[in-house]
Amino acid sequence: MLYNSTRGGETGLQASEAILKGLADDGGLFMPESIPALKTSLKDLSRMSYQDVCYEVIKEYLTDFTEEELRHCINSAYDEKFETPAIAPLVKKDDAYFLELFHGKTIAFKDMALSILPHFMVTSARKNNVTDKIVILTATSGDTGKAAMAGFSDVPGTEIIVFYPYGGVSRFQELQMRTEPGKNTHAAAIRGNFDDAQTGVKKIFGDREFTSKLKDKGVILSSANSINIGRLVPQVAYYVYSYAQLLSQGEIEDGEKINVCVPTGNFGNILAAYFAKHMGVPIDRLICASNENRVLTDFFGTGKYDRNRPFILTSSPSMDILISSNLERLIYLSTGRSAEKTSGLMKALREQGVYDITDDMKEFIADFFGGFASEDEVFASIKALKDRTGYVMDPHTAVAKAVYDKYVDKTGDKTKTVIASTASPYKFSPNVMKALGEKYDDEDVFLVIDRLHEISGTPEPKAIKDVRSAEIRHNTVCEVTDMEKTVETFLFG
Ligand SMILES: *Cc1c(COP(=O)(O)O)cnc(C)c1O
Repeated sequence: MLYNSTRGGETGLQASEAILKGLADDGGLFMPESIPALKTSLKDLSRMSYQDVCYEVIKEYLTDFTEEELRHCINSAYDEKFETPAIAPLVKKDDAYFLELFHGKTIAFKDMALSILPHFMVTSARKNNVTDKIVILTATSGDTGKAAMAGFSDVPGTEIIVFYPYGGVSRFQELQMRTEPGKNTHAAAIRGNFDDAQTGVKKIFGDREFTSKLKDKGVILSSANSINIGRLVPQVAYYVYSYAQLLSQGEIEDGEKINVCVPTGNFGNILAAYFAKHMGVPIDRLICASNENRVLTDFFGTGKYDRNRPFILTSSPSMDILISSNLERLIYLSTGRSAEKTSGLMKALREQGVYDITDDMKEFIADFFGGFASEDEVFASIKALKDRTGYVMDPHTAVAKAVYDKYVDKTGDKTKTVIASTASPYKFSPNVMKALGEKYDDEDVFLVIDRLHEISGTPEPKAIKDVRSAEIRHNTVCEVTDMEKTVETFLFG
């Protein structure tokens, strides 16, 4: 399987090369030259462990990895770090099936990909005779930072540096990052906002003088952001696994169609469901759920992508996004893999903030349904499901549940539906408690968690216990203008 940039500037890369590069030189995203079919029947998959299903999926994409290499990556990623041997269990509540993707180290779905990406990177480096140390630089508004630190924690040959806005992440997220024990992990608060952090990181990547100075010292910089193909591929596996679980639990007949509903931000998670569908999983509709930043809802409704609108801060911050980067991959497919057309649309997005797709492209993406939920609907959804079943959702998952309920009302479609459950309610306790009718201050981090534990009756995740007792190890605060200096200090002392 070879990889091509969606913008045509780079073609014919091996998977390991695409993983090492992350983004193509022309600014495009790497795509496999085709979406491969599963070689194993769904029935056989329904008898396999998560790790074995994962192998059956990933081996079709990372074809330059040996079986031994892949199994090593999978077994190193999906081990006791996850609090359940099922890794991604499927839980039935209120006629929907919640695919819980939050049993990893940071109790949110990004752990699913960020647990394995470091192992893909180290293996890719070895395969391509890269002997330099790989240093991951990332800017975070809260969630990705800790997930990346935890993923790369003590992975030999790597080091990770995270920049987050000082005072700009939740108290719990800050504690999560500052207590990370991995010896090769670093976090710095910058005196600026998230945009300053992101711009600063981009500047470092673009500073040739600085990167060649690092290269001379045996260091190459890389990023772990969600456009890396090494993050997309492992996400396909859990959709295959969700279908396998429905089969093994006797909830569906072999071959029965299901729908999938995904709370969406950067469009990575739902794109993975689309890949699973085209690998042969009987998925009918892909329900793309947005919060009040409803740019994708409007796009699927009208065929016009328009980012020129106010940015709204919601209770589902990981979905507060106006440019969904991974949508470029679907656009590329919908143009019949035309790099020229894709580049043109992305240029329009950059320069005007808007593009329109053709009727043929609309037809191509017709199995997506876009919907959004207001903040009131999200809070009401958390409360209603808790009252009916006792099950407590986080606000991101609740966006999906609210949109799913609206979809059923509107269409009458009763197809069994898997809802991607992307975070533990513990991670967003203050808003969850607000939905349930109690109010807490952001400073009462553990008080509100204790109360949620009482109310939900679910065990407190290890990720919370770790933060309660861990020592604070990361104390750096720096100016936006000193980010390069901070990187050097972290790496070389
Ligand atoms: C990142 C994230 C999302 C959005 O996923 P995308 O792949 O960016 O669409 C949803 N929920 C949570 C909790 C997340 O962390």
